[in-house]
Amino acid sequence: MQRSWSWREWLPSAETLTLIGVTTTAEAVVVEADGPSGAACPRCGQRSEARHSRYWRTLKDLAAQGRAVTLRVRVSRWRCRNARCETTIFADRLVGVSASRVHHTQRFGAVVHLVGHAVGGRGGERLLARLGMAISDDTILRALKGFIVEPPAPGVLQIVGLDDWAWQKGHHQGRKSLAIRAGSRTASGRLRRGSQGCAVRESSWQLDGARALC
Ligand SMILES: [Zn+2]
Repeated sequence: MQRSWSWREWLPSAETLTLIGVTTTAEAVVVEADGPSGAACPRCGQRSEARHSRYWRTLKDLAAQGRAVTLRVRVSRWRCRNARCETTIFADRLVGVSASRVHHTQRFGAVVHLVGHAVGGRGGERLLARLGMAISDDTILRALKGFIVEPPAPGVLQIVGLDDWAWQKGHHQGRKSLAIRAGSRTASGRLRRGSQGCAVRESSWQLDGARALC
């Protein structure tokens, strides 16, 4: 039995966004939505509905039935009316939708993170492209590294993304960044081959016993 999608299902957050319309083609879906009708100043917290200007943010969202979905959000810049506040103009923050300065939704990023964990950068790029979520291997690795919270303990690492690295003469050390996994955490480092396998160096900490997965 088929059923049509409700407007809420197109939106990452029905609390933050209001649907304008959905355009579908054989290959793609474009969802347009309005951002909030007001916002709290990030400095003083006073709510403002005094709009300064509007612009569009374009975000990759989860695929729908194998078709790539683009979410276009009309966001606003607001004036802070608090005379004692140093902020005069500020932009919408799309809570539950997307972080600032990224080009995909949070739920898209969550899938990228899970896929990157499982199959690494290049494998993730190929898999996600087949699923209608095209994204570069570099972006997948950046997404993994974005989850770093602290250096993981030695001996529990698995390398999950090893892209475009090369041996340096005499040092056998990878040149490009890679993603490594320790439990649910990820970090980045450079690869060095030794008699005991691989070691990973990252700034002030060194971790031995890592195992390459790809
Ligand atoms: Zn303010």
